Amino acid sequence: MPQEKDMAEKVLKSDKEWQDTLPPERYQVLRAKGTERPFTGKLLDNKKKGVYKCAGCGQELFSSDTKFDSGSGWPSFFLPISGDRIEERKDGSLLMTRTEVLCSRCGGHLGHVFDDGPRPTGLRYCVNSASLDFEDSDEDTKK
Ligand code: FE
Repeated sequence: MPQEKDMAEKVLKSDKEWQDTLPPERYQVLRAKGTERPFTGKLLDNKKKGVYKCAGCGQELFSSDTKFDSGSGWPSFFLPISGDRIEERKDGSLLMTRTEVLCSRCGGHLGHVFDDGPRPTGLRYCVNSASLDFEDSDEDTKK
């Protein structure tokens, strides 16, 4: 029986298509695995209620409820909306082993995950603003 838990189908585009559709600063992070300079991202100090989505494919990745101020200079979360939204991969660049975090739907590079986060998970998803879109839900009073 095929697994249908991925409500979203994979988004597969050629490098050229990504380059043509993403603004350069987003392309640089999502597809070229770049890192924005710390303390420069638009969403770093965003404290509104809402959902952070992948800027490549729109998949919902993080809730504002799990965002915290890590002091690192990048938006930080202690938990994704669900584990299947995220793919993790060992990254041996920069002469250290880190765990890269990617969007499971389009394979876009988001950032890295570290194990020095706050409770309850102890995880710190360190994510580039440029890889995210924020959807404000402040008007939604259900939560
Ligand atoms: Fe994506």
